[in-house]
Amino acid sequence: MRSKEPAGDLSESPATKQRFAWQWWPAVCVILTGFYVALPYGRLASIVYVLTSLIAALAVGFAAYNRRQLVQPAAWKLIAIALSFAALGHSIWYWLDLQGLTPFPSVADIFYLAVYPLFMAALYKLERQKGQSEGAMSDALLVGTSAAVLGWVLLIAPYMNDPSLSLGQFLISAAYPIADLIVLPLILYLVFLQRARILANLFLLAGILSYLAADLLYAHGNLVGWYAPGGLTDSLWLLSYAFFVAAVHHPSASVEAHAETSNAQLSQRRIVILGIATILVPMVILFQTGTEMETVKVAAFASIVLFLLVMHRMGGLLKETQQQAEALERLSKIDPLTGAANRRELSNDLAREIARSERVNAPLSLAFLDLDHFKDFNDTRGHSAGDVLLQELVKAWEKEMRPPDVLARFGGEEFVIVFPDTDIEQGRKVLERLLKLVPFGQTCSAGLVRREPGDTADTMMRRADKALYLAKDRGRDRIVCS
Ligand code: GH3
Ligand code: MG
Ligand code: MG
Repeated sequence: MRSKEPAGDLSESPATKQRFAWQWWPAVCVILTGFYVALPYGRLASIVYVLTSLIAALAVGFAAYNRRQLVQPAAWKLIAIALSFAALGHSIWYWLDLQGLTPFPSVADIFYLAVYPLFMAALYKLERQKGQSEGAMSDALLVGTSAAVLGWVLLIAPYMNDPSLSLGQFLISAAYPIADLIVLPLILYLVFLQRARILANLFLLAGILSYLAADLLYAHGNLVGWYAPGGLTDSLWLLSYAFFVAAVHHPSASVEAHAETSNAQLSQRRIVILGIATILVPMVILFQTGTEMETVKVAAFASIVLFLLVMHRMGGLLKETQQQAEALERLSKIDPLTGAANRRELSNDLAREIARSERVNAPLSLAFLDLDHFKDFNDTRGHSAGDVLLQELVKAWEKEMRPPDVLARFGGEEFVIVFPDTDIEQGRKVLERLLKLVPFGQTCSAGLVRREPGDTADTMMRRADKALYLAKDRGRDRIVCS
């Protein structure tokens, strides 16, 4: 089984048929599971069960050591160890049961319970290196909290009211659902994190859910008394192992799950999942009211937690939306090449400055500038050198200007500068300095005007344009005031 290559990296795949080889390992596990269910419960069935678990552990361990490019092989090694512990637990459980001794609680539980921290550590490892995604964490906790209440109602609460259980028995019985409910958000987090559908992670999710379902059924069956070994409940554990095997052997196990580009992203499907999770707890309250006070308290507490999580998620979405809106607003005001104000921003600023200048009776000047022979510069030095010149020019001018001055790129190699509180003489002095700053030995012509009574943005611009035309006409590299 050395043929597992990522789906996207077929260059290393020696033969087409080997691309499908990942299915064989889980198929073996599923067939053995079928045998286990078909066989009458006894020594042979138990051997099949333990054998299947061991094969699954080996298959996962083998992949963890041999598959090149596997994402986080350490995580899969932990899962292989977990499955070995489960196999050991099974052997002890069956041995005790077939001897007529009590298999639960027993030494087997030590091995069974050791499986959970290993699962948790493995999932934690798989979730590293993915970048931040607050949204995925909130969503996983939301669904996990909601599931925890169901777990409480179905699994933990019944034990609390069972007087026949000793404290030790109660703790061991409760440890399983509690561990389940810690594992659940971890696997959900992993799945919520991914952008592309990574089948390996979905197999892992199916495996964990199947494992948790088996735990749940076993706990319930033991409590109520319907559980008997050798049946479908046990087969769910074996199926979960088959899913783990499929997960580690699937080509996509070597694909990095990128964190979503935007934490704010909420797919329709996820909204449905979150919606179900959020109403689950109030439903529990509804159905349990009047029957059991403890449950109502737990459900009420969980409702508060869920509400806080939803608020947190909404806060995150709102923050991201605001940031995007701000970024969009910034972008809508600037010229992308030079970062100077664009024409739209210029017309807003100029109208505002004219109004202010009228109101406070302050002077206002405006310059229209145009680089000289820029077409020649482009033709001899190249268009990209022309771009660099424009960028350097804006940088140099902005450094020289006062904060209230507005520099806008009007188009091509034409610029407009608005000088608030500046009469035409002061404006000319600033312009003289600016013209000396044109990079690469190039020159620039400018037309300068001041605001006259009754001026609008339009009339000022038109006069400045005329003055610029004169400057060009008189030989360029100069300022003409109108
Ligand atoms: P004049 O002195 O009469 O202004 O001559 P000119 O060559 O500067 O004027 P003209 O209007 O004929 O040419 C302007 C040139 O500016 C033509 C165009 O290729 C160049 N241009 C416009 N926008 C850009 C730009 O974004 N990048 C670069 N590199 N060149 C640009
Ligand atoms: Mg021009
Ligand atoms: Mg020009």
